[in-house]
Amino acid sequence: MLTLDQVKLKSESKLVGLQPVIVAAAVALIESCYARGVQIIITQGLRTIAEQDALYAQGRTKPGSIVTNARGGYSNHNFGWAIDFALLLPDKRTVSWDTLRDDDKDSLPDWSEVVEEAKKLGFEWGGDWRSFLDLPHLQMVFGLSTTQLRVGREPTAAQIAAAYAVIDKLQQEADEGMSKIEELEKQIKDLAEAVAGLTKSKDTLKQAAIEQGETISKVSGRVETLEGKASMLKPPAWAQPAIEAAVAAGLMDTPAGGSYDFYRTLTVLNRAGLLITIHEGGK
Ligand SMILES: [Zn+2]
Repeated sequence: MLTLDQVKLKSESKLVGLQPVIVAAAVALIESCYARGVQIIITQGLRTIAEQDALYAQGRTKPGSIVTNARGGYSNHNFGWAIDFALLLPDKRTVSWDTLRDDDKDSLPDWSEVVEEAKKLGFEWGGDWRSFLDLPHLQMVFGLSTTQLRVGREPTAAQIAAAYAVIDKLQQEADEGMSKIEELEKQIKDLAEAVAGLTKSKDTLKQAAIEQGETISKVSGRVETLEGKASMLKPPAWAQPAIEAAVAAGLMDTPAGGSYDFYRTLTVLNRAGLLITIHEGGK
């Protein structure tokens, strides 16, 4: 996603030569649309009378389709009171005039969102015209006709001031919207970092479990060694006479598998002559 400044930069050259209030309104429009999740580009600003004549020829005396009903001097573009916009697609390069796209997925066509913001700013929309629909066109003419503009009429200072008041108010709202977006972006960034941290601690836990498992394995190995000592498969040589005596006395079935303590006890009993006594008594 482009930053607001990057989006603004894409329209910068088209704002050159426009009436200052139109520049302010266009910038506010780019910003308020951006705050709504719609990125736009200004594709047309001031159009010289020669450029207007060339455009008028298109679809009439030159190939192409008709794009304007205005000859040179008959378009508000010629006096810097109009702009044309288009949508800037998510690939950040492609410009679109698709009035039905909804790239910000809010169930509102992005184009309509731009028009809504534009009208709030005081723009008149070419899509509302009866005679010739001009969907990308936005203008502010303060009730002046091109005939009046051609003879140098200008809006009053009061009209301009009123327009600025509206623009400034919306600009401020857009700024607040942007602050909220930036705040949300920061929160998302923090959240992403927290999630990354979680993954890290998950790994730490996993590593700890592995280490603990290794420790358990080592401990159980040692236990097995200890148990092996406690329960010897092969009885020690010194216990053999006691074992034989115990087996003979019918005290033991198996001479092997006893514990170290068992063999020691058996030997003590045998040396005390008790095993033989039992043997004899058992007879
Ligand atoms: Zn236009």
